Amino acid sequence: MIVGVPKEIKNHEYRVGMVPGSVRELTNHGHQVIVETNAGLGIGFSDQDYINVGASIQKNAAEVFASADMIVKVKEPQAVERAMLREGQILFTYLHLAPDLPQTEDLIKSKAICIAYETVTDNQGGLPLLAPMSEVAGRMSIQAGAQALEKSNAGRGMLLGGVPGVAPAKVVIIGGGMVGNNAAQMAVGMGAEVVILDRNVNVLRRLDAQFGNKIKTVYSTAEALEEHVLEADLVIGGVLVAGAAAPKLVTAEHIKNMKAGSAIVDVAIDQGGCIATSKATTHADPTFIVDDVVHYCVANMPGAVPLTSTFALNNATLPFIINLANKGYKEALLSDQNFLNGLNVINGKITCASVAENLGFEF
Ligand code: NAD
Repeated sequence: MIVGVPKEIKNHEYRVGMVPGSVRELTNHGHQVIVETNAGLGIGFSDQDYINVGASIQKNAAEVFASADMIVKVKEPQAVERAMLREGQILFTYLHLAPDLPQTEDLIKSKAICIAYETVTDNQGGLPLLAPMSEVAGRMSIQAGAQALEKSNAGRGMLLGGVPGVAPAKVVIIGGGMVGNNAAQMAVGMGAEVVILDRNVNVLRRLDAQFGNKIKTVYSTAEALEEHVLEADLVIGGVLVAGAAAPKLVTAEHIKNMKAGSAIVDVAIDQGGCIATSKATTHADPTFIVDDVVHYCVANMPGAVPLTSTFALNNATLPFIINLANKGYKEALLSDQNFLNGLNVINGKITCASVAENLGFEF
């Protein structure tokens, strides 16, 4: 199979679909890999690094899209990339279609085979291709939140861990999955007071076993959520309903009543956000203020640490890429229900129930 790796074009996105080490695995399996020039430059990989492992370099994305049987990317295809997809071509990348009608319509029109990293499942009910980016974003959310609390960013001027004799900040994490767990690890490490809300009791049990009395676990009802959000210095939004838009759990009214200078980091913004006042921001201009609350809502947080993120992503995606290349999409998907769950659009039809439901398409 011919596998194409275009350079990412989203604002401040320096990750790349495949590092040279992953390319080498594919070429060892007898596949051909074409990489757009400078695709890996943002994280220190030159064209020569790719050539050394058997890839060929193309001078622009159009040539990569025109020759490849399968496109491997990181972020959802932008409008100009969508226009280059063709019938029968495999697209393997993050898509996040549920809150994105224009992209969904274009993918339907393209008749390409669109497999989303974020809806591939595993036997434990997890999302193995979302997990590495959630680990990164969860850990980073505390870094971003700590900065948002600084006075120069319009925050309360508060140090997360406090100092001896001065109380630490209260960090309220909504959603105790991969993002929430990793956020908690960092917040606990920095000495903050940490509360995690989730509506799955088994998740709360696991967190309790892992952290003991270093955190407080709370079952997420509207009442409990309101109580803790209003007391918070920093709120991390990390909920997920797989494939669907995030539920708006923190309302505009809550934001109005939060402490002036408190901060929120809505990690779930890539699924529309779980905070009513959130709107997606970029690394170039990551925060905005609503009712004196600093909002950080960057939709591609791991893009800020592309070196760590690319390797973390490649570790997870590589077996699936090899599988697709070796077997072709039909056999690879039909022999593995977990992988099949990643299929979002094929031959002009939506195949992911939650995406269809969310966007009002028949399923
Ligand atoms: P996950 O499935 O591991 O965890 C989500 C948790 O939310 C689950 O434990 C679930 O029980 C909980 N939950 C669902 N509804 C809830 C509710 N009403 N109240 C409380 N808890 C609820 O998911 P994850 O991997 O941690 O991802 C979380 C979100 O972060 C997703 O939307 C994901 O797309 C997003 N994400 C964003 C970025 C970014 O750059 N902004 C990066 C990675 C992940």
